[in-house]
Amino acid sequence: MKLQSIITCPECGFEKEETMPTNYCQLKYKCTKCGYIMKPKNSDCCIYCSYGTEKCPPLQVK
Ligand SMILES: [Zn+2]
Repeated sequence: MKLQSIITCPECGFEKEETMPTNYCQLKYKCTKCGYIMKPKNSDCCIYCSYGTEKCPPLQVK
């Protein structure tokens, strides 16, 4: 299972590698560069599914 995901900010394009939590879905993420608050898009369960390079751990298990 991959726990490292690179999140790309939709506002400024800043990329940052983060370690995903395995026990819950993260619903908010603040861009460390511009401060934009990311939230899951439409049917996505967490910000990693919407903005990260990897699906979140619960989805990787399925
Ligand atoms: Zn940003």
